[in-house]
Amino acid sequence: MENWLEKMALDHPLVIAGPCSAETEAQVMHIAHELKDTDVNYYRAGIWKPRTRPGNFEGVGALGLKWLQKVKAETGLKTATEVANRTHVDLAMKHDIDLLWIGARSTVSPFIMQELADALAGTDKIVLVKNPVNPDLGLWLGGIERMSKAGIKNLGAIHRGFSTYAKTKYRNIPEWQIAIEFKNKFPDLPLINDPSHITGKRDMIFDVAQLALDLNFDGLMIETHHDPDNAWSDAAQQVTPQRLVQIMQDLRIRKPTDSETEFNNAMSNLRAQIDVIDNQLIDTLGKRMKVSDSIGELKKQKNVAVLQSSRWNEILGKMILQGEEAGLSEEFVLRMFKAIHQESINHQEKIIKKK
Ligand code: PEP
Ligand code: MN
Repeated sequence: MENWLEKMALDHPLVIAGPCSAETEAQVMHIAHELKDTDVNYYRAGIWKPRTRPGNFEGVGALGLKWLQKVKAETGLKTATEVANRTHVDLAMKHDIDLLWIGARSTVSPFIMQELADALAGTDKIVLVKNPVNPDLGLWLGGIERMSKAGIKNLGAIHRGFSTYAKTKYRNIPEWQIAIEFKNKFPDLPLINDPSHITGKRDMIFDVAQLALDLNFDGLMIETHHDPDNAWSDAAQQVTPQRLVQIMQDLRIRKPTDSETEFNNAMSNLRAQIDVIDNQLIDTLGKRMKVSDSIGELKKQKNVAVLQSSRWNEILGKMILQGEEAGLSEEFVLRMFKAIHQESINHQEKIIKKK
C-alpha cells in the first residue's frame, strides 16, 4: 500500500519550510508569500516553543494558528506545527493544521508520547516524530509504535540530530547510523532530515542536506525566515527563502528511472554509508590516541617503560577473537592493531621525551 508521501507523487524530496517560530502575523505572511510557488510542500511555524531555559521567546500560542490558516487560504501551502500536549493537539486540529510534528524534547518522554498518541488517535493528519534529544534508537522507535498503535496511519519521522556534552561543529550531532538503523526498522515510513537543527549554522545546511539525500532520506525540513539574523529564535540556522530555493536547485536529487540510474543510486547510498563509518573510524582512533596520551603522562610520572608486552599480547588475543566474530581475518586484525599500537608508542614516547 502506498504511504501518504508516495500518494503525493512528488518529483522532488518533500520540503517542509518556514520560520522556527511564528513571531507576528506580518512575518508569517511575508515568508509564506515568498515560499509560494517554490518546491515547498508544507509551511512550518512553531507556535509553542520548547525553550531550554525560561525567559526566551516561548511562542505566540494559539493566536498563531489563525495566521497559519490564513497562509493556507492565501498561498495554498499546507501547514505544519509542533504539538507537545493534548491541548496543542486539540487546538491544532480545530484550526485544520495539516501536519503535526512531535519535538525532540517530547519523544524522550513515554508519558508525553502516550498522551499525544491518545489525543491524536485515529487522525488522518500527517504526524511526524522527531528523534529524541539523546541518541536512543529505542525511544524513537517506541514513539512511532505508540502512534501506530493509536491508529495513526499517516506517520513519518524527522532526524534532527542528538545533543552531546562535548563541543562539536554541529549543534546536534547527526549520528547517521541511528537514522540508518531507524530506516532499516521502518523501511516504509517516510524519513525527513532536519539539517537546520543538526547544524545550527546556515552555511553547513547544504552539505548535511546533500548527505541525507544520498542516504535516501525522503525529504527535508529547513527553517526559513525573511530576516534570519533578527529571528526571535534559532537566528543562526535560518536561511532566507531565496537561499532555500538555491539549495533545492543545487542539491543532487536522485530520480530512479532506468537500471543504470538505479545502480548509481544504490552505489551512492552505499558510499555515503561508508563515508559516515570512515568518519567514525578516524574519530574513534583519535579518541584512542588521547587516552593513550594520558597513559603516557602516567608512565612518565611513575617512570614506567612505554612498552608493556604482556598487556599488549592480552589486547591482541582478545581483538583477534572479536575480529573473527565480526568477519575479519586474523591477519588483518594483527596488521591493523600493530599499526595502532605503533602510533600509540610514538605518541607516548613523544610525551615521555618532553621536558
Ligand atoms: C523546531 O523544529 O523548531 C524544534 C523545536 O525542533 P526540535 O524539537 O528538533 O528541537
Ligand atoms: Mn528551531
